[in-house]
Amino acid sequence: MLKTSHVAVGAATVFVAYVMLILVGRAHGAPLTVIDDLVSIALTIPAIVFCAIAARSMRGRMRLAWLSIAIGLLGWGLGEVIWMHYELHLPEVPFPSIADAAYLVLPVGACLALLLFPVAGTQSRARLLLDGVIVALSLFLVSWVVILHPLYLAETPDRLGFAISLAYPISDIVLLTVAGVVLVRSSSDNRLSLTLLTAGVVCFAFSDSGFAYLTAGHRYASGDIIDIGWAAGLLLITVAAAAGREGAERQRDAFVLPGWASVWLPYAPLLVAAFVVAAQPVPVLQTRPVIIAAVILAVAVLARQFLAVRENRQLMAAVADQARHDPLTGLANRALFNERLNHAMQLRIHEGLPLAIVSIDLNDFKLVNDNLGHLVGDDLLIGVGRRLRNCVRGSGTVARLGGDEFSLLVAGGADAAERVGNRIVKAFEEPFQLSGHELLMRPSIGVAVADSDQPHLAAEELLRRADTAMYSAKRSRYRGVQVYNPDMRLLDDAADAAVFGAAGDKPGVGGVGTVLLLGKLRQAVDRAELTLVYQPKFDLRTTAMVGVEGLLRWPQPEGDALAPEEFLPLVRRHGLMGSVTQMVITRALDDALAWHRAGVDVPVAVNVFAPSIANAGLPAIIAKELSDRGLRPEALEVEITEDLFLDSTERTRAVLEQLRHNGIRVAIDDFGSGYSALSYLRDLPIDEVKLDRSFVAPILTDARAAAVVRAVVDLAHVLDLTVVVEGVEDAATAALVRELGCDIGQGFYYGAPVPPEELLRLVQSQAKGAST
Ligand code: C2E
Ligand code: CA
Ligand code: CA
Repeated sequence: MLKTSHVAVGAATVFVAYVMLILVGRAHGAPLTVIDDLVSIALTIPAIVFCAIAARSMRGRMRLAWLSIAIGLLGWGLGEVIWMHYELHLPEVPFPSIADAAYLVLPVGACLALLLFPVAGTQSRARLLLDGVIVALSLFLVSWVVILHPLYLAETPDRLGFAISLAYPISDIVLLTVAGVVLVRSSSDNRLSLTLLTAGVVCFAFSDSGFAYLTAGHRYASGDIIDIGWAAGLLLITVAAAAGREGAERQRDAFVLPGWASVWLPYAPLLVAAFVVAAQPVPVLQTRPVIIAAVILAVAVLARQFLAVRENRQLMAAVADQARHDPLTGLANRALFNERLNHAMQLRIHEGLPLAIVSIDLNDFKLVNDNLGHLVGDDLLIGVGRRLRNCVRGSGTVARLGGDEFSLLVAGGADAAERVGNRIVKAFEEPFQLSGHELLMRPSIGVAVADSDQPHLAAEELLRRADTAMYSAKRSRYRGVQVYNPDMRLLDDAADAAVFGAAGDKPGVGGVGTVLLLGKLRQAVDRAELTLVYQPKFDLRTTAMVGVEGLLRWPQPEGDALAPEEFLPLVRRHGLMGSVTQMVITRALDDALAWHRAGVDVPVAVNVFAPSIANAGLPAIIAKELSDRGLRPEALEVEITEDLFLDSTERTRAVLEQLRHNGIRVAIDDFGSGYSALSYLRDLPIDEVKLDRSFVAPILTDARAAAVVRAVVDLAHVLDLTVVVEGVEDAATAALVRELGCDIGQGFYYGAPVPPEELLRLVQSQAKGAST
């Protein structure tokens, strides 16, 4: 395709040649009428072709715009052909004639085209049109009182001729006006072609005015100097069309505010007209065109004001709406949510209508962001927003309060809220499909209800309660709907007291407490202040201790150490899992080395969060830690806490295979607790499966549960996996799990988790007991 710059150079060359031709012709004495006419006709052809090409490369309004210019040019070219015919075959060119009708197709087409060009910003086309009317009428008023009225008075008897010769300058006034109005409002991507087009229109206007003036005195003939304007106009339109096509291939601009020119432009000619007209003698002011134009102008100005005010109001409404919605998901934001919440609280007091807040937070959202990128994270949030909206089914407000926190305002009491909550649980059972990734996301859901019997409950307190319930669900990894109860608060405050030394802000979502807690946690991780306690595992047949599991603790300066569920959610949320895993491995192997030196060799299992398993560097890290201490690979076992297997199963597989290749045992943790699928047992390269406490707990009272456990144990054995039962708390359960075929037991019944030194003493005393 031809570049705009090439077309421009070509056009400039043709223009110079054309000017030479005219000048030479005039110097000759006899203008080169025929050649001149032929050249004019020839020049319309590329103009039409380029406009047609531009139209073809565009869509919608822009296509129509270039098409109407092409048609206008076609009309103009036809006019030229007819004109040439007259000039060659008639003694004098008739005026007005059919050629004039053809010529006038161009201003109409161009005007239409300009109005079709896209305008930047929010202003309506109606306002554009009004601006055009105001400018055109102002210009008309000026030209009427200054030029046309005197011409009219000195008129020839041929009224039609006068009208037609007026049609040229008037149509040019309109066209110029529209071009100006459109140009100041154009979006920058088509400004170049519009500028060229406007320049072309200006050239035409000059020549048309000259033509009107000359024909009035029957002094025009082809080859006149004014012909240069038309040639220039045609060439400029040709280049404009080339530029327009090139512009269409570029990307469109985002929202741009129209410049100030668009505000004052219509008023400048109005002001000029007012001054010029006011300076005229009274009889001129009383001519009909002046009166009509003045009336229309007044109406147009009023209508424009009205439109401007209306557009401003719409804009305000749009801005207000945006200020109350989350741009990513389109859900309500905190401001709108609070507004609705306060309103609902008022209704509760005045009309006794209960309401509830459902607080939702995604588990491990940060992992998605970190591992799959922010775009996928954004997609996920949008998908979550959509599912939540479906859950309220039009009644109630769904808001995104920040990151991955969502809140629902539900009309109705506890029943309604739980219904919505259960719908949400269900809605998240399906994995999300995100640009090639299949992702199972779990929400933590908390509910707080404001019934009519607690008149003093404030909106903020209700919100805090819902968050507290949600946070409690998150800590215990509860997958249902957690309804707030006052005990939760006590528990939270106790935890806070342990962390802050006083009852502070709860470690809820986004509170001061979280920030403080997070700061302390970061420090604790950096300084390796987290410790491990060890819980023994026993062979159910030989009753020998066959290993220990390292469990994380966060010691507090005063009070009890915090359990993992109290700070692991924070670790995961803030991407500290990698450092924690590293620290756990180091510490577990340090302790194992200390036991080894004391003559005790007991394999230690560490918990590794599933997504960390996808870290391809893990096997090398572990191998180095082992060899640094001269420990054998059997000293370590890895338990995968499988909350969320990210879809990078290929990588996960490769890491697991590498670990096992290096001689390290791999176990699947918490089997039967919810996510675990039997397919994991089949597909993943593992050695051991740990049955979750909740899976085993009902077997004493429920024969069917026992049958399921037996079936899973049998299956695991077929697949050559060792079966470990967790959370065995009493002798009866211990006996039954042994009977069901489980291999290894772990739980308070056999022994609670203890610090490393104590574990050593325990093993040594047992060894002593066994030998005596
Ligand atoms: P888990 O891997 O299933 O660990 C067993 C949990 O059950 C431990 O809780 C343990 O104290 C508890 N437990 C043991 N026997 C019994 C019993 O007979 N009855 C009852 N009710 N509970 C028993 P803990 O130490 O609070 O750990 C909770 C979870 O935190 C762990 O569950 C594990 O998923 C996670 N975790 C602990 N340490 C680490 C770690 O170093 N890294 C990672 N990623 N996760 C860890
Ligand atoms: Ca474990
Ligand atoms: Ca477990």
